[in-house]
Amino acid sequence: MQINAKELIYSYGKTSSGRVNALSGVNLEIASGEFCGIIGETGSGKSTFVQHLNGLLRVKKNCGALTVGEFDLTSKKCDLKKLRARAGMVFQYPEYQLFAETVEEDVAFGVKNFMPDKTEKERAELVEKALNMVGLDYNEYAKRSPFDLSGGQKRRAAIAGVIVTKPEVLILDEPVAGLDPAGKRDFVALLKKLHADFVKTIIVVSHDMDFIAENCSAVAVFKDGKVSFYGTPKETFLSGEAKKAGLGDTLVTRLTESLKAAGADVESDLTAADFIEKFAAFYFNDKGGNAL
Ligand code: ADP
Ligand code: MG
Repeated sequence: MQINAKELIYSYGKTSSGRVNALSGVNLEIASGEFCGIIGETGSGKSTFVQHLNGLLRVKKNCGALTVGEFDLTSKKCDLKKLRARAGMVFQYPEYQLFAETVEEDVAFGVKNFMPDKTEKERAELVEKALNMVGLDYNEYAKRSPFDLSGGQKRRAAIAGVIVTKPEVLILDEPVAGLDPAGKRDFVALLKKLHADFVKTIIVVSHDMDFIAENCSAVAVFKDGKVSFYGTPKETFLSGEAKKAGLGDTLVTRLTESLKAAGADVESDLTAADFIEKFAAFYFNDKGGNAL
């Protein structure tokens, strides 16, 4: 499903004195199949924008246009249940939204809610598939209480509850926030697996520039309620577009700069693995290994 926003405007609050313009004319086209990162300073409108994508926030009259695949979010007739089954949203700290007595019931909720036509058997199959997909073995975890799981497992269970409808688009708002480095690596691996095998398009909001630079196929930069730039990670981080929007460099970019300052003639491809290779080539090959 392609996503297309044109001059999308959104403000919170009704009175003109209390009005906050959260989106002030977003133009953005995300092709089907992208792993799209959304970055921008706090308050730039990222969360407000992604909450439009599954109809949680509605496009108001004369406030631009938004389509997600065949769904026209500008229309009052837009079937939100159908849309939400196909464009799933994972909020920040999704583990806090677990509520049922068993993992199975929790994950099944999305099917009951958004796909009421499914039979019990179909529902059970979807739940099993979703749990296995996020790395929680169905036989081991289905009957357990979600509250007895570890933090990482809870987050996985919550994600299973969103992907259970087999959405085409998965939207995640700050999913790596609060994870330690190992938890983050596991989570990135899960997202990559989901993108390869299960959901077509991933849209992920994050403050973590290295996570975005290493994993995304496209990056939208939000500034003051607008998209100030849309391009590849290289275009975004190596041409100063992220900096222009008030964002920091990635760690790999900073390390590359320091390698250049030491005399290396290198360009970064933004991945840590690439940096390590170039670092090693500079210190161990070019200089005969005596620099360290
Ligand atoms: P981001 O996710 O990039 O940090 P948000 O979309 O959350 O940005 O916020 C955009 C603007 O809208 C900010 O000025 C923020 O204070 C305001 N805002 C966000 N949510 C609400 C809300 N529920 N009520 C009023 N203002 C809000
Ligand atoms: Mg936000």
